[in-house]
Amino acid sequence: MNYEAIIIGGGVVGSSLALILGQGGLDVCLIDKGRPSSTNEHDFYKGRTASLNLSSIGFLKKLGVWEQIEDNTTVFSGIEVWDSQGSSVIKFSASEIEEKKLGVTAFNNLLSKVIYSELSKISNVSIIEDDSLDSIQVREDVLVSTRNGLNLGSNILIGADGSLSSVRNLSSIPIRTWSYDQIAFVASLKPEFPVNNTSYQIFTDTGPIALLPINGKGENLVSLVWSADKEYASKLEKLNTENLLEELKLKTENKLGSFQLRGEITTYPLNQLHVKEYFSDRVALVGDSAHTIHPLAGQGLNLGLSDVNDLSERILVSRRLGLDIGGLKLLQEYSSSRKKVNLKMIALMEAFKRGFGSTNPWLRMGRNMAFSVTDKAKPLKKRFIKEAVGVI
Ligand SMILES: Cc1cc2nc3c(=O)[nH]c(=O)nc-3n(C[C@H](O)[C@H](O)[C@H](O)COP(=O)(O)OP(=O)(O)OC[C@H]3O[C@@H](n4cnc5c(N)ncnc54)[C@H](O)[C@@H]3O)c2cc1C
Repeated sequence: MNYEAIIIGGGVVGSSLALILGQGGLDVCLIDKGRPSSTNEHDFYKGRTASLNLSSIGFLKKLGVWEQIEDNTTVFSGIEVWDSQGSSVIKFSASEIEEKKLGVTAFNNLLSKVIYSELSKISNVSIIEDDSLDSIQVREDVLVSTRNGLNLGSNILIGADGSLSSVRNLSSIPIRTWSYDQIAFVASLKPEFPVNNTSYQIFTDTGPIALLPINGKGENLVSLVWSADKEYASKLEKLNTENLLEELKLKTENKLGSFQLRGEITTYPLNQLHVKEYFSDRVALVGDSAHTIHPLAGQGLNLGLSDVNDLSERILVSRRLGLDIGGLKLLQEYSSSRKKVNLKMIALMEAFKRGFGSTNPWLRMGRNMAFSVTDKAKPLKKRFIKEAVGVI
């Protein structure tokens, strides 16, 4: 069977790429090893949540799915950041960049459900589930074999298969990677005190804790991403839920009072990864297959959706012009465009993490000066917020 594009990996990034290419008239095949198209309301609490920045919201509007997502998202218009070493709180607010919000939070599984419901209406997108990539051969086109014995051909193969990407490995695309030696504990929690549309970031000596406001079945909840150094994480893993939440209350300095668990707690090992190029012969990478960054920044999915926006525009324009959509020129231009933007964001977030995470007094002083309220520092702070919410 032949397609114009084959996408491996049907997470939020891969499925939104299938949707936008399908809407543009391409014959697309989307393959996932799981069953993401069966995601339903009961799965909302499971897995990750995303803080979507203004650029991602713009992309979801372009996809035509925003209206169905918006009612189940929670707006945040402020971020409060502090460290447990007694420095003063640094606040970022939407009004500083003349916006009403900095972003919204949503369950990843809600995004999946809505995107797959749109995909089911498009006949030129074939979805294959419970199957995975086995081998790739590049000749004039790209030939893909799957574990279940399918042989498929395509002009371009796109890897959207997450941080352990088989597409990346089978195409021998080189990477730079390191482990943060941290585990993230992720959960939806009901806090004792209201959060007032504010996200909280607390830098502790055992890793950063993020609490994002999120609406769960009508309740005002927070989405927890608690990044813990491995040694401390193994202590946390031994605690029962009650003791774990008591520890969280202490670590968050009682700012939101005590917490009750909704759903379950899941854990993720944290690594940093960035590919040296976003392509090889007839192959492109998007989302976590190309880059994974620390979740404290809440930027991973935002970067992935920007990859999709960039690549899909190039593919659709090339196709309209009758050009090869898997050709070297397109792939090189896509790669250099994404490398430039994503590297900047990765560097910005690493600097932020080091500035806050460090006990080095010089770094801490530098960070406090950079984000201080003096008029001199205001343009820098404004620029930082704009980069993070994706408006520049
Ligand atoms: C704890 C945590 C919190 C986060 N919070 C935020 C946040 O607030 N904001 C934000 O923007 N980002 C956040 N991120 C990052 C964000 O979740 C990821 O960047 C995003 O989900 C990546 O999407 P993806 O579709 O590229 O990859 P994935 O979600 O990993 O999807 C990959 C898909 O590929 C499939 N697959 C894998 N291998 C194969 C194969 N060989 N064959 C077929 N299918 C395959 C999988 O089944 C899966 O469906 C967070 C990440 C973590 C770990």
